[in-house]
Amino acid sequence: MKIGVVQLVGAGPGDPELITVKGLRRLEQADVVVHDRLISRRLLDLAPSTARRIDVGKTPGVHRWSQRRINTLLVAEARRGRSVVRLKGGDPFVFGRGGEECEALVEAGIPFEVVPGVSSAVAAAAYAGVPVTHRSHTSAFAVVTGHSSNELDDLDWEALCRVGTLVVLMGLGGLRRVVQTLRANGRAADTPVVVVSRATVAEQRSVRGTLADIVIKARYLSTPATIVVGDVVALGDRLSWFVPQRMKPKDARRTSAQGGATRQADDVA
Ligand code: SAH
Repeated sequence: MKIGVVQLVGAGPGDPELITVKGLRRLEQADVVVHDRLISRRLLDLAPSTARRIDVGKTPGVHRWSQRRINTLLVAEARRGRSVVRLKGGDPFVFGRGGEECEALVEAGIPFEVVPGVSSAVAAAAYAGVPVTHRSHTSAFAVVTGHSSNELDDLDWEALCRVGTLVVLMGLGGLRRVVQTLRANGRAADTPVVVVSRATVAEQRSVRGTLADIVIKARYLSTPATIVVGDVVALGDRLSWFVPQRMKPKDARRTSAQGGATRQADDVA
């Protein structure tokens, strides 16, 4: 039997329209779609109705599928001759463990292709009106994990704190620790910070503050959330453009009552 191909496709940050044209084409031709938890239903609906959809997503704290089991599944489906789309949030190679999946495919002799995606690292910032670089502010940005304390400890924070814009993924739960780490390594208390929750979809909420007050201000935001730190964040005052459609007046009141950002379009709509 002819061996199948595995396509590692970046689904983009949330809005189904932010998948690439190539990613969509691959999805439309899939026999099997192996996807993460955060992938939108609307996107999954674009796969053929006959395609098998397998949710291997990990709810925070609950590992339903081990990485090894996911790798085994990809190999097995391809060996059955199927066209497998491995649909991953954002870009498959940005904290997506896409590299590990490719290693497993190489080892098993399975052909694969990678279709990059729009990473939430840049999309969440863009949807809060924040360009991650700007000629007047910084010509560098770094993307880091804020996840476990061990991984945090492994990073060279002193060096990272010299990069103009820092984007922290998986950092909402550990926001206090992230802020403490940045302060301890030289970032000033008045450095602007924005936390963008559920970026690019109708439920997007964002809260702007500084390293001094963001922990309190962002306390009611939900995951997934991206944290952006640096002078460019202040540009969001003027450049914020995205107005989530389903913002109810009740939510708007609650957000400002909690001390959230008041001038961003997505908080006052
Ligand atoms: N490969 C993904 C990142 C995976 S790590 C990418 O390139 O986007 C998962 C983290 O991404 C989350 O903890 C959160 O920090 C961020 N994230 C994913 N979707 C998001 C969204 N819609 N809004 C804000 N942050 C998001």
